[in-house]
Amino acid sequence: MLSASWSSDRARWTVRVERADTGERTTLTCSWLFCASGYYRYDQGFTPHFEGRERFRGTIVHPQHWPEDLDHAGKRVVVIGSGATAVTLLPAMAGTAAHVTMLQRTPSYIMPVSKNDVIANALKKCLGQERGHALARRKNIAQQRFVWSFCRRYPKAARRFIRWVNARQLPEGYPVDEHFNPPYDPWDQRLCAAPDGDLFKAVRAGKASVVTDRIATFTEDGVRLESGRELGADVVVTATGLNVQAFGGIRITVDGEEVRPPTPSPTRA
Ligand SMILES: Cc1cc2nc3c(=O)[nH]c(=O)nc-3n(C[C@H](O)[C@H](O)[C@H](O)COP(=O)(O)OP(=O)(O)OC[C@H]3O[C@@H](n4cnc5c(N)ncnc54)[C@H](O)[C@@H]3O)c2cc1C
Repeated sequence: MLSASWSSDRARWTVRVERADTGERTTLTCSWLFCASGYYRYDQGFTPHFEGRERFRGTIVHPQHWPEDLDHAGKRVVVIGSGATAVTLLPAMAGTAAHVTMLQRTPSYIMPVSKNDVIANALKKCLGQERGHALARRKNIAQQRFVWSFCRRYPKAARRFIRWVNARQLPEGYPVDEHFNPPYDPWDQRLCAAPDGDLFKAVRAGKASVVTDRIATFTEDGVRLESGRELGADVVVTATGLNVQAFGGIRITVDGEEVRPPTPSPTRA
């Protein structure tokens, strides 16, 4: 979809579209336009300026532009970020990489969540797919609401509980507070889910680690941190977020006048 213009006289939208396969452009009209285009700009990830980036001799990848032929097997990987992308990539890459380091400026709340929903499965088995799914959906919404309101109402207790769960998943003596204790309360920002605790498993197995620090500069062999520590890397993944984009970036006009959504700021993904 390229643009949508509303005419009050005709009470209709005129929508310009371009076919992805042929590039052919056409016009459609409708009285109701539903724009299910998400909230991120997918063709361009957010990448902050990193000092010395051009010196790095390895590969730098943004998750939005993942090279089909990227082979990270046996390589030292540094993933910059602590949002959902970094938390998902760490265990996925740790399987074959020599080592994966998640380099974060600020920790996120990360909770292990079982991939297997026993109650949902039992409901579907007893009530059939359709009714079981409907009930499981209600259960999940209620559960999510409960967790969210508990965190907002009792932030200290929620923080202690998350820390306790994290500590149980991590090796003995692990610096939990340094890497898994954010400066903000649970659900001030989104809480990340680790399916079956995959991130913690990778850390326990020694296949991955978390470093909380700031990048001073890229070097030929990796990154130097503000603490002075150096992280060697063959591949650096900049999981530094996406830019928010309303209405899929299309041009919107109402009675010939362009409507410009507010300019958004980058968010962590
Ligand atoms: C790394 C990451 C991890 C996430 N993890 C979770 C999670 O664990 N749990 C969870 O609930 N949510 C998660 N989310 C959020 C979740 O993905 C989004 O909330 C959800 O995808 C939004 O759905 P949507 O249908 O509104 O938009 P999207 O899934 O973003 O779909 C929008 C579609 O519109 C298309 N489009 C955009 N612009 C145009 C245009 N101009 N013309 C035509 N087509 C266009 C896009 O190509 C895309 O296909 C995650 C997001 C990210 C990035």
